[in-house]
Amino acid sequence: MTDSPPADDRSPRATWSCRWCAARSGEVVLDLGRQPAADRFPSVGETEPDPLHELRMVLCGRCGLAQLEDDPTGAEEPRGVEPVALVEQAQDAVADLVAAGWVAAGSRVTEYGSPHGGSWLGPVAAAVPAVTIVGDGVADLVIDSLGLMHEPDVRAAWDRRVGRLAPDGVLALHVHPLSTILRDGTWNALRHGHYAYFSLTVLVAMARSSGLVPVGLWDYPLYGGTQVLTLARHGSRPAAAATAAERVVAELTLDVRSGVCRAEALRDLDRHVGASTTALRAWLDAQPGPVVGYGAASRAVALLAAAGVTSSDVEVVVDASPAKRGRAMPGRADGRVPIVGPEELDRLRPDRVLLLVPDLLDEVRQAYPQVEQHGGRWVVAEPEPRVVPPLTGS
Ligand SMILES: [Zn+2]
Repeated sequence: MTDSPPADDRSPRATWSCRWCAARSGEVVLDLGRQPAADRFPSVGETEPDPLHELRMVLCGRCGLAQLEDDPTGAEEPRGVEPVALVEQAQDAVADLVAAGWVAAGSRVTEYGSPHGGSWLGPVAAAVPAVTIVGDGVADLVIDSLGLMHEPDVRAAWDRRVGRLAPDGVLALHVHPLSTILRDGTWNALRHGHYAYFSLTVLVAMARSSGLVPVGLWDYPLYGGTQVLTLARHGSRPAAAATAAERVVAELTLDVRSGVCRAEALRDLDRHVGASTTALRAWLDAQPGPVVGYGAASRAVALLAAAGVTSSDVEVVVDASPAKRGRAMPGRADGRVPIVGPEELDRLRPDRVLLLVPDLLDEVRQAYPQVEQHGGRWVVAEPEPRVVPPLTGS
């Protein structure tokens, strides 16, 4: 998987066209081969192999949008439990929007949400009691928190959002920027159902093409670093646009330096695939027996599949979502890893709990103190397994 494929493997399939600009020229920058759908958790007893689908990231040769080449999976992810980190980000972002004056008493607010939860509408209504949540028609604040990436037709989804903006309205876009993914080597951000991987450079260009300019930019620690970019029509918020401009130019310069818009730089993600799967394989092989996993999230699917993990490596994966009980991690039909509820942590008393969703670390340590009280340790799986030292006093 780490070997460079021949040059012609870098061409997207013949019927591909860019989800934003409809160009037909692009380059495959990350190829995870054939993968199970990350959103289809089979039942434990299912003996048929999971269907496999090509999973590749293409960089558009014209507009520079990094995107999922194709998604034949079409499945719906069983709804997971909303991570606390996502809820906290929503509260922090809303506080920033309120402080910036983008939402006030009387504002009409609408939201394009993410299937993973993290709605901002609750925090908005709590912070500004007199707002009106509108289902259609124009809005003074259009929120999109990690929603746009889940839209297969990026252009149409963008136009819908911009079309809802009142003349001096603000569009608040929350994204997990490609610069964070590239910096952290989190190649398993690539998955079916996630159609676009936005760099700030591409987002700003998309905005400009619709007559919008940046009027604010905030950073959050979620997923290793997310950003909220606020946009308004050119000329409608001149003071904020002038203030934001300097910060945005600095970010765009960082994008140029990191090469986030260049195929050869993005291909570095391929190197991380080999590094993280080799490290996970080596760590699992060095354990005296199977470990317990935590977090049956879609991001874990490709990692476990690429490292060839079976139930002889990871006995069970614990997950708080009732929708995933009785199911198993997608992957090999022999040695399926069942998903169980958190109550199993008491019965199993694991020495090592492999945490497959790094963002949950604080939350799970607080929710399941018994793991460390029994002498067990949390082990963050990515980018390479890392044993978390016990809290003082435990
Ligand atoms: Zn394009």
